[in-house]
Amino acid sequence: MAKRLSPLHQPLHHDIQGEKSVQTAYTLDVLRKQIAKLGADGSTIGLVPTMGALHDGHLTLVRRAREVCDHVVTSIFVNPTQFGPGEDLDAYPRQLEQDAAMLEAEGTAVLWAPDAAEMYPNGFATNISVTGVSEGYCGTDRPGHFDGVATVVCKLFQQVLPTHAFFGEKDYQQLAVIRAMARDLDLTRPHVHSIIGVPTVREADGLAMSSRNRYLSKDDRAAAATLPRAMKAAIAQIEAGGDVPQNLSALEAELISAGFSSVDYATLADSASLAPLTALEGASARLLVAARIGGTRLIDNMPVG
Ligand code: AMP
Repeated sequence: MAKRLSPLHQPLHHDIQGEKSVQTAYTLDVLRKQIAKLGADGSTIGLVPTMGALHDGHLTLVRRAREVCDHVVTSIFVNPTQFGPGEDLDAYPRQLEQDAAMLEAEGTAVLWAPDAAEMYPNGFATNISVTGVSEGYCGTDRPGHFDGVATVVCKLFQQVLPTHAFFGEKDYQQLAVIRAMARDLDLTRPHVHSIIGVPTVREADGLAMSSRNRYLSKDDRAAAATLPRAMKAAIAQIEAGGDVPQNLSALEAELISAGFSSVDYATLADSASLAPLTALEGASARLLVAARIGGTRLIDNMPVG
């Protein structure tokens, strides 16, 4: 099959399905042929959407997908519509060759790597906007961000038609938005119940892995570890019956004194609706934080209770 592909669409490596080999598709046409082959015998297909610059957090999603599904499709697309004006779209790290090699080592079957023109052909005019869980938090700080995410993820679902899809809890609000979209639009591939959240993978000092951590200077990187540490401390206090607003204020103050320039939000939220909570009250809760250091915006979240 590789022989029939144009040079642009040639796989980086041989197509040995199920073996340690990844085939890269740059066009929808090629992707659809590959997907048809993978799913022909009723095999399950797991999709792992990413923006590339892969790290162990992404690879953990791929490993989980390999455990659950017969085949794994990983997408790499730096989606322009989820970046706001003045955000880091141009600076966002791009390293497709290196990412492909990492995915090959993990046993991803297909790497779906469209460019913006393939994803958004001339005249593209559709927007998916999820209300409710997309409001507040990153939805407030990054207007339009979740519309961009929901629209591109819906397209990825239609392109790959996965039986399962895997997302990190690192982007907790994003996971809630995607689940709401799949539920509301009655998606079947994947079904809302086949959207699997994977716990956040962290560096040795507790900082959540992120492609954006590489923007941090050495000093800011060291100071950034205060974020998970202060979150854990606040959670311990809250779980022991401490006052929620007081502990959230203390958390913000600790971040600022550690060198963070601002805290976008530090909120205790209901883990399903994301409604803010001022007390634990036995609810299943999540601590959600976004804070800026050295011009980089870091987000993190942890379960509470
Ligand atoms: P991104 O490339 O940042 O868009 O992330 C792609 C997917 O990887 C999303 O579902 C993220 O939530 C997930 N992800 C990113 N960082 C981590 C992490 N540290 N642990 C677990 N999942 C992650």
